[in-house]
Amino acid sequence: MSEATPLRAFGEADGDIADLGGRTIAFIGYGNQGRAQALNLRDSGVAGIVVGVPKDRSRDEAMEDGFDVRTVAEAAEAGDILFLLIPDEVLPEVFRDEIAAHVKAGDTLVFASGYNLMFEGVTPPDGVDVVMLAPRMIGRQARELFTKGEGFYSYISVERDASGRAWPTLLALAKGIGTLRGGAFEISAEQETLIDLYMEQGFGAIFGSLVFQALSVATEAGLPAEAMILELYLSGEMAQTLTAMAELGFVEQSRLHSLTSQYGGMTRSIRLDREPLRKHLQQALDEIKSGTFAREWAAERASGYKNFSQLRDLAGAANPFSAAEERLNAAVREAQARGKGP
Ligand code: NDP
Repeated sequence: MSEATPLRAFGEADGDIADLGGRTIAFIGYGNQGRAQALNLRDSGVAGIVVGVPKDRSRDEAMEDGFDVRTVAEAAEAGDILFLLIPDEVLPEVFRDEIAAHVKAGDTLVFASGYNLMFEGVTPPDGVDVVMLAPRMIGRQARELFTKGEGFYSYISVERDASGRAWPTLLALAKGIGTLRGGAFEISAEQETLIDLYMEQGFGAIFGSLVFQALSVATEAGLPAEAMILELYLSGEMAQTLTAMAELGFVEQSRLHSLTSQYGGMTRSIRLDREPLRKHLQQALDEIKSGTFAREWAAERASGYKNFSQLRDLAGAANPFSAAEERLNAAVREAQARGKGP
């Protein structure tokens, strides 16, 4: 492993909302992240927020939430600070056609992921600050934690400091959306993208396959699928193990499990052939770094998501989980109903 460099960490005391200086903030997109971040920022006392959305669904929601809702182009024109919170694969086109013409020198562009910076899907005009504020939390939960007075983590970076004020602006925004309560850590947009995609394509692909294979081997051996699903994820025990890992550490959490569990897990882990796993992880990372994946995904979008749709249909048709999940949920409902008094 290479030499460890400590991440620069930022907390509540590092951000000051006053550094936003009354600039107008435009949220382009009001989905998972857009809604949560806009509401959190407003509840932090930031005025002058406009929301830019094109279609019906999130437009209605933003209006119900009491925001000044405009078209994407109108919001981009009004905003001095632009949160770009629409899907990464859609952003290049929308930025080019509806946003770019309205971005002026002195504005700040806020990206929630490094994807379009690393793969140059968006080219920020000269004279604008470019920052990344990338929560490590789904939007719904970021909102819920904020309303409970709790925080969540984010990665942050200043990718271009044209004004000389990009850092105080970024930290004020980070404070406003509530992430400094948890902690924000500096990594570059490129590093954020590599980690994000690597987790999905390297780790996530193995994890998904592992869950599937664990179910498949067990049910072929005659074990009930419902019990395996309960064991794998429905009981929440696995989620608790991850929570304990976060609190106690990767190794220390194992002490919460029985000696039989610890001994069995360790001895069988040591003899596992790691080479195929490493090969998959390395290949996934190489394809992300070289831009192979980004080109493939752009072509997929251009084709109208042809392969993607086929894969989803295939996964749905071959899914051995759905019927067992339904049976298990019915059994759980029955068991819980039996516990109820008259
Ligand atoms: P969503 O998929 O939730 O974004 C939906 C929003 O984008 C809606 O307002 C939608 O409008 C709008 N939109 C969709 N297509 C278009 C279009 N063609 N033109 C204009 N607006 C459009 O996005 P997320 O919130 O999930 O992601 C936003 C950013 O946050 C991304 O960079 C992502 O990587 C990052 N991120 C996301 C996380 C998450 O939890 N999902 C976690 C951390 C970062 P309508 O509803 O009207 O269709």
